[in-house]
Amino acid sequence: MSNHFNRRQFIKIAGMGSAAAGLAASGMNPWGWPANALAGSLGSDVQVIPTFCELCFWKCGINAKVRDGKIIKLEGHPKHPLSNGRLCPRGNGGTGLTYDPDRLKKPLMRVQKRGEDVFREVSWEDALDFTAEKMLDIKAKHTADCLALFNHGYGATFIKTLLMAYGTHSIAAPSYAQCRGPREVGFELTFGEEVLSPERTDIKNSRMLVLIGSHLGENMHNTQVQEFADAMANGAKLVVVDPRHSVAAGKADWYLPIKPGTDIALLLAWMNVLISEELYDKEYVEQHTYGFEQLKQHVKSYTPEKVWKITGIRPALIRATAREMGHQKPAVLIHPGRHVTWYGDDTQRSRAIAILNALVGSWGRKGGFFYPGELDVPMPELPKFPPMTKKRADLQLKDYPLAFSTLASGLCDATFPAPQAECQLKGWFVYGTNLFFSLPKPEQTREALQHLEFVAVSDVLPMEIVGWADVVLPDATYLERYDDLHVGHYRDPFIALRQPVIEPLYDTRPPWWVSKELAKRLDVADYFPWDNIEDYLQQRLTPMGIKLSDLKKDGVKVFPRQALYFEDGVQPEFYTDSGKIELYSAKLASYGHDPIPVFTDHGDPPEGYFRLLFGRAPVHTFGRTTNNRVLNRVIDTNHVWINRRIAEQWGIKNGQMIRLQNQDGAITNEIAAKVTERIRHDCVYMTHGFGHKAKGLTNKKGASDSDLITRYNTDPIMGGTGMNVNFVTFVV
Ligand code: SF4
Repeated sequence: MSNHFNRRQFIKIAGMGSAAAGLAASGMNPWGWPANALAGSLGSDVQVIPTFCELCFWKCGINAKVRDGKIIKLEGHPKHPLSNGRLCPRGNGGTGLTYDPDRLKKPLMRVQKRGEDVFREVSWEDALDFTAEKMLDIKAKHTADCLALFNHGYGATFIKTLLMAYGTHSIAAPSYAQCRGPREVGFELTFGEEVLSPERTDIKNSRMLVLIGSHLGENMHNTQVQEFADAMANGAKLVVVDPRHSVAAGKADWYLPIKPGTDIALLLAWMNVLISEELYDKEYVEQHTYGFEQLKQHVKSYTPEKVWKITGIRPALIRATAREMGHQKPAVLIHPGRHVTWYGDDTQRSRAIAILNALVGSWGRKGGFFYPGELDVPMPELPKFPPMTKKRADLQLKDYPLAFSTLASGLCDATFPAPQAECQLKGWFVYGTNLFFSLPKPEQTREALQHLEFVAVSDVLPMEIVGWADVVLPDATYLERYDDLHVGHYRDPFIALRQPVIEPLYDTRPPWWVSKELAKRLDVADYFPWDNIEDYLQQRLTPMGIKLSDLKKDGVKVFPRQALYFEDGVQPEFYTDSGKIELYSAKLASYGHDPIPVFTDHGDPPEGYFRLLFGRAPVHTFGRTTNNRVLNRVIDTNHVWINRRIAEQWGIKNGQMIRLQNQDGAITNEIAAKVTERIRHDCVYMTHGFGHKAKGLTNKKGASDSDLITRYNTDPIMGGTGMNVNFVTFVV
């Protein structure tokens, strides 16, 4: 396998942005507009309306081109700090969501058993009256905290305000316990601050980038990928640690095909080399860290020779990469990753990444982690939210004192009767998250739904979770609505406006409207003290000296850059107990956890089984976009990567349709095999988000990894769900 091939692959995938736009431009657009309308020859009757994207959570600035009330092109907003004039491949295809013929078009109410996915169309009046009646009933019978909100995306802002005003504290986004929570807790314990989203990673100035299980290029967050390309063009060194030869690995100076589940051992071995060869940033460590001597003692036993046997990475390779880190410090970025819920010891893994960054002195330094710009945009005065009446619902069965946010999986658990529970959840309000794809153990989610007295779902598409609703509130897409202002804290602080570029299609409504209407019915209208959304936005903008009419034209207001690094004036302050970067955490020790990360063996697959790994397709966001007809012109299904030697043993040919079955007998739809040397023999890999079964969705191609996540290990520190603990075999 040559690097040349993979470099080309990288370029190919990185170029999919224009490919997606190009396909839309080719005359194959599904809504049948003339090809030249999308090809850039736009006439003077074209309106350009700025807003920001929501095909993923990155929120890049968009210029939408609209003619005769139809969106004909989306482009990156040139002044928006997260897009810099470009969108990622998904962002270009955003019209595929708005013009998806499968969209939910009218409010619906269930007419058969819950889960049978049979509804009748109703008016908004009836849908909202019913929702409010059920919510008030739960509040009267069980208290407001017994209604949970599961949410994803920026559209949830007003819905969250509504639910807090109603009185519940059971509000969770799966992006915490099922995605980046362990990273935020691990970094907070070490530096006293989170990595944040978008990540404060100074990729473009990095001289050495270490990606450990992070798939930049497939994980297509626009600004990061732009900066990754800049860093590579500037000659930055790249280390990729991954059981799979990813797109990024094709660019790597060093590729380390690690045994899955052994990252902590490698991270400790790197620390061993940096410390024993005195290559770490001594001045930085002396000035800013706490617990160096304990760390030095702790990593002594993690020699490259010992760790070779654990990880499969040769000692020479461990030493060479550690020495390069020592050479390039402090502009070395050991990337914190994003989806980091893998084995259950994920907070410790993230802490090991944080500690390694501290040793090379990259936190607060150019080419490492910058300090994001600050901007205070006051919220309008609102009445106080009601206090919590019961123990936090997600922590009733097991307490995680370091879980800084609510655990979505904990809320699912709290829906089952348990003797020690103060509050069994009785209602779910689900906004913008298909819980069958975002929570582990889909069977448990199904069972939980049957215990509920009330389920409301608001979404754009008829996802699997919609089929389980009692009432469905069809959402306007991000191109059809106002949302709250986005106050961005990146290198340059900014305020961005989301505004409708067209009127909502069908009988859909934006979440601000739904929230305000429900607030009237729930007797909490005081929390929405404005006549319409434009009044609200102007109320927020006035203290900043900004007119809404100007922001509607410009889309974004960028404020002056502040100091980014210690060297240009940021005061090194660490909000930890010791006031220093904590290499040793007394707080963790006080809760009975390892104060410094320790490697734990996660075992090998049983005979005939392979560890299931999953990740992202570069043009899709989880299962949210896999029905998008524009994006599906590029990628419309997934494959399972199987090592060539293993495939030969099983007689599986490249492209052959097979099924995967896990250790508990769960089995997937058919999926095509991708037979390749680019993955280790002990694991298989597939992209997440395909294999839909919802009857209202057109694209059901591929298989869903979620069907196979019947087990997880819970992170003992913050309650995250480590899901890479499932093993699969092939059904051929
Ligand atoms: S990264 Fe892509 S999909 Fe996400 S907000 Fe930006 S343009 Fe949209």
